[in-house]
Amino acid sequence: MSNPPIYLDCHATTPMDSRVLKAMLPYFTEHFGNPSSIIHAYGWEAEAAVKQARELIANTINCEPVEIIFTSGATEANNLAIKGVAEANFNRGRHLITIATEHRAVLDPCRYLESLGFEITYLSVSKNGLIDLNQLEKAIKPETILVSVMAANNEIGVLQPISAIGEMCHQHQILFHTDAAQAIGKIPLDVKSMNMDLMSLTAHKIYGPKGIGALYVRRRNPKVRISSQIQGGSQERGMRSGTLSTPQIVGFAKALELALEEMESESKRQIQLRDSLWQQISQLEGIHLNGDRQRRLPGNLNISIEGVDGAALLLGLQPTVAVSSGSACSSTGTTPSHVLTALGHSPSLANASLRFGIGRFNTSEEIDQVAKQLLTIISSLRKAQNYRDAILSNHQS
Ligand SMILES: *Cc1c(COP(=O)(O)O)cnc(C)c1O
Repeated sequence: MSNPPIYLDCHATTPMDSRVLKAMLPYFTEHFGNPSSIIHAYGWEAEAAVKQARELIANTINCEPVEIIFTSGATEANNLAIKGVAEANFNRGRHLITIATEHRAVLDPCRYLESLGFEITYLSVSKNGLIDLNQLEKAIKPETILVSVMAANNEIGVLQPISAIGEMCHQHQILFHTDAAQAIGKIPLDVKSMNMDLMSLTAHKIYGPKGIGALYVRRRNPKVRISSQIQGGSQERGMRSGTLSTPQIVGFAKALELALEEMESESKRQIQLRDSLWQQISQLEGIHLNGDRQRRLPGNLNISIEGVDGAALLLGLQPTVAVSSGSACSSTGTTPSHVLTALGHSPSLANASLRFGIGRFNTSEEIDQVAKQLLTIISSLRKAQNYRDAILSNHQS
């Protein structure tokens, strides 16, 4: 890329921080041992590095190291949490509750469980993207075994009231799982004070490597039972077999350490950039902010733009800025985002939406450049649209 577009798609993934890469490198070559090889020094070195990483990750979310199960990312962690709890607890009940705006990595395992005979309640969200706790309480049945509600939404960035949800679940003796892929390292998370029983994490949204994440599984009060989804060498206390990837685990811990160190200052800085982008764009008429104004991730801005075609907008922006749209490409073409339609948007307005994910390496110069380009493109697309409408109406009269 000779003049690469400005990257504002940090909810999709983030570039790896060079400090993370530096921490990982020795574990590919010199310290390459298998952490399960307990009878020689190569294994010990790797095992010590994994132990240290596990302790660091556990400390940051206030759990015990043994409660961390390494996985390939949040998708696998969500699958393990949802299918694992359902399989281990179906004698107690076969009803689960989740919300309409979850990531596909939660919705699809739920659909799969439905095909096996489980019943799933998909709670709707309010106009601001947040769930209503009264609605949640009403959905709880004697057969409910698990509630799964994401901490932060990956499209509109809204922060669900997870502490209150956890408290309600515990009052009803139901397990609570949260997908914290977008929240970890960006907002404080404490599994004890927030009453979480299972939590999914991933490294690549916080400047760590792709292909590594974890599931937190509570061991006491209550002890959470899950069935493993991958069997083999009984790593991770039998809950997830497979040789542990020492470099990725070390990278995950380093990424989390950095994210926590810089959380306060970075959060302030990203809010400033985000608000500046919003101020510049919202000068135009017909721009909607999606998701609650206050309860959202620092680096997230999601907008819908009236009077423009979503595809034309993306085409116009693509040389300048890498952002995500309000639609998902599937094998059958583009479908409007299920999150935006859950907010009550029409398919065409959902398609004319943009998700900005501002991250650690973005500057205010970049934000100004993107805002300027966006204003130009929206204005010219609207002019073209008006012109087309005028010609059509002349033609008809
Ligand atoms: C990115 C993301 C996932 C998937 O995580 P992977 O580690 O890429 O599997 C799941 N849930 C949410 C909310 C995400 O943002």
